Amino acid sequence: MLAKYAVRPEDSRGRRHPEPSHAYRNDFQRDRDRVIHSRAFRRLEAKTQVFTRRYSDHFRNRLTHTIEVSQISRTIAAQLGLNADLVEALALVHDIGHPPFGHAGEKALDAAMRQHGFSFDHNLHALRIVEDFELRYASFRGLNLTFEVREGIIKHSHDYSADAHPELSEYLLHQRAPLEAQLIDLTDEIGYDTADLDDGYEAHLLTVEQIASSVHLFDRCFREVQVLYPNAPEKLQFNEALKRVFDHLVGDLISGTKQRLADAGIHSLADVRQHPKRLVGFSPPMELERRQIKHFLYENLYFSPALEGEKDDAERIIGELFAHWTEEPDDLPRSYREKAVHEPLPRVICDYIAGMTDPFISQQYEKYCGA
Ligand code: MG
Repeated sequence: MLAKYAVRPEDSRGRRHPEPSHAYRNDFQRDRDRVIHSRAFRRLEAKTQVFTRRYSDHFRNRLTHTIEVSQISRTIAAQLGLNADLVEALALVHDIGHPPFGHAGEKALDAAMRQHGFSFDHNLHALRIVEDFELRYASFRGLNLTFEVREGIIKHSHDYSADAHPELSEYLLHQRAPLEAQLIDLTDEIGYDTADLDDGYEAHLLTVEQIASSVHLFDRCFREVQVLYPNAPEKLQFNEALKRVFDHLVGDLISGTKQRLADAGIHSLADVRQHPKRLVGFSPPMELERRQIKHFLYENLYFSPALEGEKDDAERIIGELFAHWTEEPDDLPRSYREKAVHEPLPRVICDYIAGMTDPFISQQYEKYCGA
């Protein structure tokens, strides 16, 4: 049952190129399926989330992270009466614009672009992928996704100003995104906060004592588990504790959002769009716990010396390849050389690099910049 403030497929603003409706799938289900069957989605499998494959191949990559975000999002959507098909499409597409080598790769690509007076932003890149780069249909470029999915790509995690981004004006930048899109920002965070604690512990970069001393929510859960399973191996106590942290975050996001919707008197999608602030959120005490986890991960994992080497590699590989193709555009594949006739060369190189997987860009580096 959809809540009154959910997005209904029959109210969609539709596709750029009108298409006949499908016999047994609504438009958001079709969009979800188009994302799953896209090339960019398949490439997420070989893109770093936080840990490269050098560590272990059972840690999260961008694809498994994306599937986890989709799972969390569907669970919460059902509890809030949101449109689970739209939520799923948005979760599956949310990281599709990420370049190789995780956050370090994104920083390096942005730095390379800034030398030429441009910039790189993964949400804007995701929009270019679904609007232009995916070629699967005879009558249009891109995936021809509904307005609501494209709007969600742009608005789920960032508020772009209409002044700075006139090209995005069709996405109602002065209005809030529907709750389905607002949700993704926080399910993404629940997904990576808990996963990064998990992978960080598994990689022996984080210890239980270290996490418990800084993250109060984890500390409480771990103590609870020690009473219940005093003789269990630490790894299983850790898992049980992390599962409880996860549950608290998800449960609170559901109840916290319900509370905000009630307090703000939200009864329709129009109310959501016109509300001055985002409505999906944790309760104030859980918001503090969330910040504590995030702060802990920044202090102890994301800038850990153990990950420095990989970050340096990412910077070097992206920086040098970008410079190489700037000097020698004839080394680009033909389709990109043709694009460079109509578009600035740095943008074309950036699009090429952003689409690459970690192994492919490493291969290209060997080929063009190897000793
Ligand atoms: Mg993500």
